[in-house]
Amino acid sequence: MAQILDGKAIAADLRSRVAVGVRDFVARRGRRPGLDVVIVGDDPASQVYVRNKAKACEEVGMRGEVHRRPGDITQAELLALVHSLCARDDVDGVLVQLPLPKHLDETAVLDAIDPRRDVDGFHPMNAGALLSGRPALVPCTPLGCMRMLDHAKVSLDGARAIVIGRSNIVGKPAGLLLLARNATVTLAHSRTRDLAARCAESDVVVAAVGRAGLVRGDWIKPGAVVLDVGINRGADGKLVGDVAYDEAAERASWITPVPGGVGPMTIACLLENTLRAAWMRAGLPLPELPL
Ligand code: NAD
Repeated sequence: MAQILDGKAIAADLRSRVAVGVRDFVARRGRRPGLDVVIVGDDPASQVYVRNKAKACEEVGMRGEVHRRPGDITQAELLALVHSLCARDDVDGVLVQLPLPKHLDETAVLDAIDPRRDVDGFHPMNAGALLSGRPALVPCTPLGCMRMLDHAKVSLDGARAIVIGRSNIVGKPAGLLLLARNATVTLAHSRTRDLAARCAESDVVVAAVGRAGLVRGDWIKPGAVVLDVGINRGADGKLVGDVAYDEAAERASWITPVPGGVGPMTIACLLENTLRAAWMRAGLPLPELPL
């Protein structure tokens, strides 16, 4: 039976380390690191996410501010807001909550964020830096996955890893981070043939698809580590992942639950990225935040 990778507990640990780094920053710079979150429109789920992000900032001693704009904001107005935030010295991280309403050009908005303040790690400069193996602001969900693997002391050197899903937000960066740690990585996606067989030969499985129970128990190599990024709402309204948890837990050595797995790590890594961004802009050496 697998051991559970408890995202809530690992995230709480990371947050307390971030809080120490925040106090150190305040002592040196005389101000709090700050994250500014922009939200357009009134999607209820997005409103909850941004409120939680700002609250999480305050809890570790950072400034967290939400900028709400109506759903009919123009592209020029939104770009002007992003530019004005990126020009402020007390703004260390700028995050535009996605998705944006259809009339707005999401790519252009993300490109307008100063890469040094791009705490989501979606700017092409940061994506390119990750690809080239240079220090970068890395997308929070894959970073959270790596933090969990490190917590379980999973040896990645030479391991076979499969990432199911190739989005820019999760799948691709997760694959690059695993590669940087010397895993042999398969990036699988909706066109992959023999997905079950590719999965069954993998020591590490990262499922980031958005399909409830896609990954079955008999796809899991005995002793493999399973990270379930998927968030799906089951027929009964409960949250479930991409992995058939009970079956997979019979074979895995470690597994993340949904909820309470990768999800809490994402927001803790957003705090870590904001602290990193603040330190980098201040020209201070990066604080080490190992788990
Ligand atoms: P996405 O829709 O952008 O990408 C999904 C990927 O899955 C695509 O690359 C696609 O090729 C692949 N795919 C689709 N069907 C497939 C199939 N049958 N077999 C293999 N691959 C298939 O999604 P995303 O933004 O990467 O998010 C993926 C999931 O992770 C979603 O459920 C999302 O809600 C969740 N998510 C969770 C967190 C978190 O904090 N836990 C953060 C981001 C996303």
